Amino acid sequence: MNAIHKLLLAAAVAVALAWCTWSHTKIGPVVLERPVAIASSRPCLDLGCQRGQRPWLDLADKFRPDKPFKSLPDLMHHVGNGSLVEMPDHSDNITRKMLLTSLLDGTLPARYQPKTAWLFRGIDNRPHMSRGVDQGVEGHPSQLLAEFAALGIPSSRVVRFGSTSASIAELVRSLREDFHLEGEIEWKAIALARYAPSKTGWVNRWGKAFDFDAITDSLLRRAPAEGSCRGTHVLQSLVVIWRVDALKPILSGSSRDSIRRRLASTIDQLRASQRPAGYWAPDWFTPHPNRGDYTQDPLLFPDDQLALVTGHHLEWLDLLDDDMALPDANRRAAVEWCVQSLARVTEDSIAKNLCAYSHCFRAVTRAISPEIQSNERGVP
Ligand SMILES: [Zn+2]
Repeated sequence: MNAIHKLLLAAAVAVALAWCTWSHTKIGPVVLERPVAIASSRPCLDLGCQRGQRPWLDLADKFRPDKPFKSLPDLMHHVGNGSLVEMPDHSDNITRKMLLTSLLDGTLPARYQPKTAWLFRGIDNRPHMSRGVDQGVEGHPSQLLAEFAALGIPSSRVVRFGSTSASIAELVRSLREDFHLEGEIEWKAIALARYAPSKTGWVNRWGKAFDFDAITDSLLRRAPAEGSCRGTHVLQSLVVIWRVDALKPILSGSSRDSIRRRLASTIDQLRASQRPAGYWAPDWFTPHPNRGDYTQDPLLFPDDQLALVTGHHLEWLDLLDDDMALPDANRRAAVEWCVQSLARVTEDSIAKNLCAYSHCFRAVTRAISPEIQSNERGVP
């Protein structure tokens, strides 16, 4: 090979490499068949009762889907906790796996279906989930896709609603094409981090480039309680990105450090603001002005708001590594408060505030019935 041939070969390799990099950014990174699984690293609390004993069943009874679910993620969140979902008339008890399979196949009984389509194709034929977050389908944009990822559903799985069908991989690509940093990005970020983790960014359909550093920066710029569910979704999103990054690096060193600092400072805030009874209130991010006197709490905050904040915090806290974790005594107090709160609350209140109580129920179920949690995966 003479010098000219070598030069031409080197140029061809350089062009090929440049094209690969450009096309990767343009098309976006590969969508994984299996979303990144994040094991809960916290040991289960022993609350002294096992599944099958009355306390667990009494709480689970209150979550029977005897009314149409307000939103699909609530349904998924709820059914994710039990291997058996007992239907109200006991005649059609089906396993959680069957319920999820029916949901994904579009064969869910009409009474459990949301009122509006959760899957549709736009005029450009790209698939989308939910036309709006307030139409009984999703509580938050892309929450359902994030739940699919949390449940370990493969991206080749085709989901159906009515006559529309799409693979989860198509939905992830569509989400990436539409992605921007305005509004609620928490669940979008979780879905993308688990299904399409990559250090290389992607370009949306308006030509704007994004990566997980930009997403992290945007999430960290938000004030502590900014965003839905009293700012707890931002923490959930940050901890998922952080845990995914430890398995498949998607962040720069400075983003990684910034998330670590935010999570550590939040733990300090939660230690300071947890009430002696074990719950956190909507003011969790500010030290209570009069420590020791919480007699005003019932007047200031409805019980469902305390359940919402406490249940949401427990969920992301369970994803933390041991060296960052909330001390066991604080965690136990919060879980025990959830048990008492769920024991007190009426079925009607649960139906009205399913989002708030389903997070508490999830945290409690993990403590009372760890084998159910370990059954989380394996959805066909
Ligand atoms: Zn929420």
